[in-house]
Amino acid sequence: MDKPKLPLQDDTLILVVDDNEMNRDLLVRRLERRGFITDTADGGKQALSKISANTYDMVLLDINMADLDGISVLTKVRETQDTTQLPIIMVSARDASESIAEAINGGANDYITKPIDFPVAIARINTQLEVYNAHKSLRESEERYALAFRGANDGLWDWNIKDGSVYYSDRWKEMLGLDINAKFDTPDDWFNLVHPEELEKLKQAIETHLLGQSDALEQEYRALHSDGTFRWVLTRGVASRGADGQALRISGSQTDVTRSKVYDPITSIPNKFLFMDRLEWLLDKDRRKRLGRYAVFLIHIDRLEELRETLGPVASEEVVVTLAHRLMDSLRTEDSLSRMFEAEATTISRHDNADFAVLAEGCRDETTAPKLAERLRQVINKPIQIDGKNMVFTASIGIVAGAMDEGLEAPDVIAHASSALVRAERKGPGNFELFDKHMQQRAISRLKMETDLRRAVADDELALHYQPIVKLTDGSIAGCEALARWRHPKRGNIPPAEFIPLAEESGLIDVIGDWVLEEACTQHKRWEEHSEKPIDLSVNFSLLQMQRDGVEDRVMDILNRTQMDPNRLKIEITESIFMEDMERINGILTNLNNEGIGIAIDDFGTGYSSLQYLSKLPITHLKIDRSFVGDVSSDVAAQAIVQSTLLMAQSLGIQVVAEGIETIDQEALLKVLKAEYGQGYHFWRPISGDEFAGLIKG
Ligand code: C2E
Ligand code: MG
Ligand code: MG
Repeated sequence: MDKPKLPLQDDTLILVVDDNEMNRDLLVRRLERRGFITDTADGGKQALSKISANTYDMVLLDINMADLDGISVLTKVRETQDTTQLPIIMVSARDASESIAEAINGGANDYITKPIDFPVAIARINTQLEVYNAHKSLRESEERYALAFRGANDGLWDWNIKDGSVYYSDRWKEMLGLDINAKFDTPDDWFNLVHPEELEKLKQAIETHLLGQSDALEQEYRALHSDGTFRWVLTRGVASRGADGQALRISGSQTDVTRSKVYDPITSIPNKFLFMDRLEWLLDKDRRKRLGRYAVFLIHIDRLEELRETLGPVASEEVVVTLAHRLMDSLRTEDSLSRMFEAEATTISRHDNADFAVLAEGCRDETTAPKLAERLRQVINKPIQIDGKNMVFTASIGIVAGAMDEGLEAPDVIAHASSALVRAERKGPGNFELFDKHMQQRAISRLKMETDLRRAVADDELALHYQPIVKLTDGSIAGCEALARWRHPKRGNIPPAEFIPLAEESGLIDVIGDWVLEEACTQHKRWEEHSEKPIDLSVNFSLLQMQRDGVEDRVMDILNRTQMDPNRLKIEITESIFMEDMERINGILTNLNNEGIGIAIDDFGTGYSSLQYLSKLPITHLKIDRSFVGDVSSDVAAQAIVQSTLLMAQSLGIQVVAEGIETIDQEALLKVLKAEYGQGYHFWRPISGDEFAGLIKG
């Protein structure tokens, strides 16, 4: 540590006490010549009154005085100020060793003898001032420290390593709801409140610091509040060490950082952490004996992520904040709400970008949850002004409504609410779904299927069928579409509409996608050996497959390996691709197209059809969805859609395939409308690779 600096002597105020005027003046003059500021007292009584009225840095106190002697003055002063607070140097006759001893025992810091040897006196004065100033600055910094802590609302702790006692300040205890008068003074009193998940880390950090392996202690952990919830606290500390480096004590602060940990910084409403904490608390085994109903709502703001691109990050953040506050207000301020629905308390939190959650405790009955969901939906649907324009948002909501005694744990509840949310989203924007037991069963059987699917890939249970694509003008086979099949050993054939989404959710889509492409290309190679004319091969790619890093390289790899001509391959994607990062998708499609690979938009007309994108992306084929084709001979609107799609495609130089042709009427009409290609049960159902080989041979 740096040696404390001596303050300038002209800051130092010394009181010279002597009832002999000449002695007094002599001392004063010499001190002032050295730059000290002085004051004088002409006897013991005046000395006492001046000391109690002013702040001196030192007193030079004559022992022999007529009215009140120096020892009495000293004794009196020491009742309130110790040697570090006010240094007192006794001035005495040379032979008065007895009274000097008495003075030192009575709390004098030092003494000088008359007649005064001034250089010696100055040396002693300076020594005492040095000690005094060191203490003074220490005291000041301690006070500042304490003040700062009070200001920052921190608690203090001070652990004496030698005797194992810990001092915890009142604020420290208040922070955790402890009774400040209760006995609480050991390390274990503290550790018993620390969340088991963080306890070891905290102890380790203290140990490390005590061993001198870290500059300071700094740990965040959860501590149990007397109200039964956990608070996030930050503990900081520094050890003070003896000359041998051994820690003597470690002391520091405790700050409540719960807010920063459990509140969402953007909306300043609670985050998922706090929500889960609350839910766990609610469903805690010991408490759930108390009967009652609760409901959890997972709320997803529809299309917000997609709109971020159009709106920009600032406006979309504004939307999130506005909705958060609206939800909050509707739940909080409207006491009528709780009366209306008879939910005792609600918690709202933000879980993710466009995801919120609401917990309603103490719901009256089963009808509370749907009513509350309806209410939440209305709150969200109110228009929001963005850049002077009114925008309306919708939300998909997944709900779990349960009773506390059902024995569910918080993570189960969230999992159920999420699956309800997925179902709600599938129904389209603005819907809500209540989780029910059947759904749970479905979830379980899905999980089982996922395990099975993993095995299926390894056990060769997957196969490809091929559906011929026909040139409508002459009925010849132009190519085929590869369609995946799963021959489940127990459940029979599982259609792709069931297992492809499952593969996407479980991440198996990459393996399956690679397998499909490689298998189809290998098959294609065999056909070409027997066929006179080129055969086009269409392969379906899901959105996730398309977004996979390096998808172009993987495709080209497989084409090289199987010796397939890229010009014969068409990749089918759905319109959902238009919702994605267009620049990136455009890059991928362009790279594939530059290799000669065709790009087809599948199920055209069912999704987010955007003509604008069609002209911007390298699209080579459109496949009109079979819902339009099915209606084309009976429904004028369907006819109009097919016709305009054909016209538009023609003008863009895009080839069209009509999907799902089932009747001769449909075929005839599509020919009239000048559709070039067709595919459907009317011609062929999907068939095996060998069967297809037979078709093209003849
Ligand atoms: P898609 O690509 O639109 O394929 C056409 C679907 O319509 C096929 O169903 C086919 O069997 C069926 N279909 C064909 N003609 C007719 C008809 O005349 N009437 C009726 N009602 N249906 C017809 P499938 O094989 O069940 O495939 C369903 C969807 O699964 C496909 O729709 C495609 O999106 C997806 N899919 C199939 N195989 C794969 C694959 O290997 N990878 C990926 N990512 N998706 C695949
Ligand atoms: Mg397809
Ligand atoms: Mg299709």
